[in-house]
Amino acid sequence: MRDTLPLHVQDQVQAAGSDLEQRILTWSNNNPDYEKAYHEAGPRLQKKIDWVLAGLLSGSIPHCKHLTKDAGPRPVAIALWEDFLHCGCTMPKPLSKHEDSTCDLCGSYDADGVYPSAVVIGPLFIAYGQCASCREEERAK
Ligand SMILES: [Zn+2]
Ligand SMILES: [Zn+2]
Repeated sequence: MRDTLPLHVQDQVQAAGSDLEQRILTWSNNNPDYEKAYHEAGPRLQKKIDWVLAGLLSGSIPHCKHLTKDAGPRPVAIALWEDFLHCGCTMPKPLSKHEDSTCDLCGSYDADGVYPSAVVIGPLFIAYGQCASCREEERAK
């Protein structure tokens, strides 16, 4: 599919991906507790990824005003507890204690809190919190 895109768009997609990679690198160096899920996604994470991608392709995910059809490829981010796609212009809003302890993959509540995690797919950054059981399952992959 990539080969059918005009060259300048391919360049933009690649540039957006590299830009995001750089930002993630800087960001994860400053947030050592964050887990990066660069490994293959487990079934629960994959389901969420599929949902985000389907929303992107159909345009059904709410997004910031900067992500227009004419904006060109650029890094985009979404936090699974918000379901809001943005270009980096907003920070996730503060969560209640209950939300902050709710797993974004399976929806279960863990009083001990969830592990902050993130996955990067090309120019797309997905942040989420996962419970101990999901983390175990994802790691097994
Ligand atoms: Zn924006
Ligand atoms: Zn879970």
